[in-house]
Amino acid sequence: MHKKYPKLFEPLDLGFTSLKNRVLMGSMHTGLEETKDGYRKMAAYFGERAKGGVGLIVTGGISPNKAGVVAPFSSKLTSIKTADKHKLVTKAVHDNGGKICMQILHTGRYAYHPFAVAPSAKKSPISPFKPWELSKRGIEKTIKDFAKAAKLAKHANYDGVEIMGSEGYLINQFIAAKTNHRTDEWGGGYKNRIKFPLEIVKRVRKEVGEDFIIIFRLSMLDLVTDGSKWEEVVLLATIATMVPRAAFSWVTRKMKGEINIPLVTTNRINTPEVAENILNNGDADMVSMARPFLADPELVNKAEQGREDEINTCIACNQGCLDNVFGRKISTCLVNPRACSETELNYLPTKNKKNIAVVGAGPAGLSAATILAERGHKVTLFEATNEIGGQFNIAKQVPGKEEFFETIRYFGKQIELTGVELKLNTRVGVEDLTGFDEVILSTGITPRKPDIEGISNPKVMGYIDVLRKKKEVGKRVAIIGAGGIGFDVAEYLTHDNKAKQLSTADFLKEWGVDAKNEARGGVEGIQAQHKAPQREVVLLQRKKAKMGATLGKTTGWIHRLSLKYKNVKMLNAVQYDKIDDKGLHITRKGKKELFELDNIIICAGQISNNELFEPLKAKGISVHLIGGAEKAGELDAKRAIDQGSRLAAEL
Ligand code: FAD
Ligand code: NAP
Ligand code: SF4
Repeated sequence: MHKKYPKLFEPLDLGFTSLKNRVLMGSMHTGLEETKDGYRKMAAYFGERAKGGVGLIVTGGISPNKAGVVAPFSSKLTSIKTADKHKLVTKAVHDNGGKICMQILHTGRYAYHPFAVAPSAKKSPISPFKPWELSKRGIEKTIKDFAKAAKLAKHANYDGVEIMGSEGYLINQFIAAKTNHRTDEWGGGYKNRIKFPLEIVKRVRKEVGEDFIIIFRLSMLDLVTDGSKWEEVVLLATIATMVPRAAFSWVTRKMKGEINIPLVTTNRINTPEVAENILNNGDADMVSMARPFLADPELVNKAEQGREDEINTCIACNQGCLDNVFGRKISTCLVNPRACSETELNYLPTKNKKNIAVVGAGPAGLSAATILAERGHKVTLFEATNEIGGQFNIAKQVPGKEEFFETIRYFGKQIELTGVELKLNTRVGVEDLTGFDEVILSTGITPRKPDIEGISNPKVMGYIDVLRKKKEVGKRVAIIGAGGIGFDVAEYLTHDNKAKQLSTADFLKEWGVDAKNEARGGVEGIQAQHKAPQREVVLLQRKKAKMGATLGKTTGWIHRLSLKYKNVKMLNAVQYDKIDDKGLHITRKGKKELFELDNIIICAGQISNNELFEPLKAKGISVHLIGGAEKAGELDAKRAIDQGSRLAAEL
């Protein structure tokens, strides 16, 4: 029995097979499925995660037929020829001691192509294509396609399949009254609406035999009005072999009281401690984590070996994973640029050991220094302040970004393990850097001071004054600049900073979710309740574009909505006229306006700290710029860490 995580490392006996621990790597679409040489890349990606100790892996969604694909060239499994290609993936996982299931995903009306089908011809808000209503024959054919895909998955040596029954895809569209308006035996009452998934599971089981895992992924909270009622969800769950997917683990706990098949929960679980707690409370039999395995393929082994402080924790930013997928790019991870690039980006031992200086211990410098040292170079990391982390030390002050601390903790440990010589409180200049073979400048940025009349007025502050120096801010505030940092400062200033992280109860209240799960879909009739904002805030930008247009695809709407709830006034197309003791004078749509304010906070972007570059170059030193020092515009930590890692892999 494992001393610290007895539940997490307890094998799970499924009768015909056993899983070595209770950790499931949840399905994630990475884009590798559709890329050139994708099977080899997937083999490397999944193989590495199997080696890292996870009990069971689930692939990204693969369609059972042409109608079910996400987009015209998305992956499907309909032939032996394709199944044979998947053998590369299953072999890599099995060779590394892992087990893997293939997810069968039919998108139904969410498909982004004109062949989309659904129980009823009701267009979804997320696809421009109205689906065709499935005929009775079409339904029969679709069920057969699910069974055939499962059989092909078995041929490809998968250990099982996961049938995607949640998150609004085809099966869910049959189950939910909102999307199923049929009047035949496949629609109407709940018993008719669940006939489709029941038939699929029955036929899949018949096709694959008993010694094959079938996971049925179920939405316990649909989070849409007119979703399923609790009794309906329980009824459906009784059909399945394993039931993952609960938006929150307490929902799975409620379900555990009702049925006796292994349950898997997924949550915002990103550490072994949280996972152990859930299992210990008896909320579920397995925990599913997805993004944490992009951040660190070795997560499970590190937990098992007591090396938790070495875990590269997922900070839930979505910037490398979901934002990329929605932008139709291959997934990666902000904190681990190797994720999904396992065949191209490798940190191999150097054959030519060099003496390298890295200047600035922000995300760019930290990644470069630690990877260079891991590869065998002699590395000295200079940092002007008394701590590592650069701007992440400011970012972690923002409500919801507390986990950015974990990245600093991870790099701190890597410095120790790889033998980087860290020199804090050391601001270096050209003369300090002449004795090195290579110099990497990761000196970051300086906030821009815009040229506005009255900018030196005492009411004016920078975002560092607010977030880092914690200067007193009045009750009426304007923020100049509505980029990522302007939004963050608005969130910080309207938030009750005494209660930093929302409790689960407050989070559910704020977002209007019924904690007792009695309402239909988990949300029907429940009114979101918002705390009164701490300040009156107006957020301004000069561009005519939509506010927050540069924020992440998957998180931007959350930020906008969150600020709207806090009555933050958001104004675009603003011209700043002047600042004086009364406040901020602007012109907008030809009209002059005065905002009477206590403070004006400047979040107007940044400029690069690159003044060491040319003088070093002039001395004939091999010098490189990365992160904010290279380019301040469109900078984010994803680029900073990626640049640092890629340069370090090459030198
Ligand atoms: P920096 O982090 O600026 O680090 C530069 C380091 O160099 C500093 O520690 C500095 O002290 C040191 N230095 C400078 N000159 C010298 C010298 N001469 N000698 C020694 N040391 C020196 N990014 C995201 O991707 N997602 C987010 O959600 C996000 N949120 C943010 C929220 C806030 C409030 C802020 C301020 C930033 C946020 N960012 C976010 C941006 C992110 O932090 C930066 O993109 C990233 O830190 C840039 O990394 P860097 O290493 O290039 O520079
Ligand atoms: P930013 O995103 O470039 O935004 C700068 C803002 O300042 C813009 O709204 C810009 O709008 C305004 N501005 C620029 N020049 C100005 C001037 N001379 N006078 C007045 N206003 C001016 O930069 P940032 O907010 O400082 O963020 C820095 C980086 O950190 C960004 O690249 C961002 O991606 C990253 N970050 C990301 C997140 C995230 O959640 N993903 C959060 C925080 C930070 P106008 O030109 O229209 O006025
Ligand atoms: Fe987690 Fe961000 Fe990496 Fe996605 S990109 S896995 S959310 S750290």
